Amino acid sequence: MSAEALVDYFRYENMQQQHPDFCPLYAKNEKCHEMEDLNCYLCGCPHFRFCDEGIDRIEGKVRYSLCAIDAKEGRALETENAIHQDCSNCLLPHRRSFILKHFDRDWMKIMEKCEACPASEQVVSVEKSPKH
Ligand code: SF4
Repeated sequence: MSAEALVDYFRYENMQQQHPDFCPLYAKNEKCHEMEDLNCYLCGCPHFRFCDEGIDRIEGKVRYSLCAIDAKEGRALETENAIHQDCSNCLLPHRRSFILKHFDRDWMKIMEKCEACPASEQVVSVEKSPKH
């Protein structure tokens, strides 16, 4: 099966029908993001960075996660002591074109940079690219 065909197989409607247990939202007939052509192949996003112990500190708050490309649809969710990345308005990882751009049959390979604990290099060199 080609990469394109494999990604197309992961369309929300097809997955809901063929693999009802893949996502708990299928049974409720709900989507994680209201959009046409929602694709479930990248349920996670390769640009998401996280560290359970905290990536760094900003003005005394521990930042636990961030977006490596600072996507304009993402935002920081701040509490009294913590900062988390809020991706709820970002549709990028569910778009077919984005998935094909980052595609690998080994899903973990696509996600390999996501864990960004202080010992890892990603924390120091957070990728930056123009907002899109
Ligand atoms: S804001 Fe968008 S691109 Fe950035 S980590 Fe979240 S889902 Fe990925």
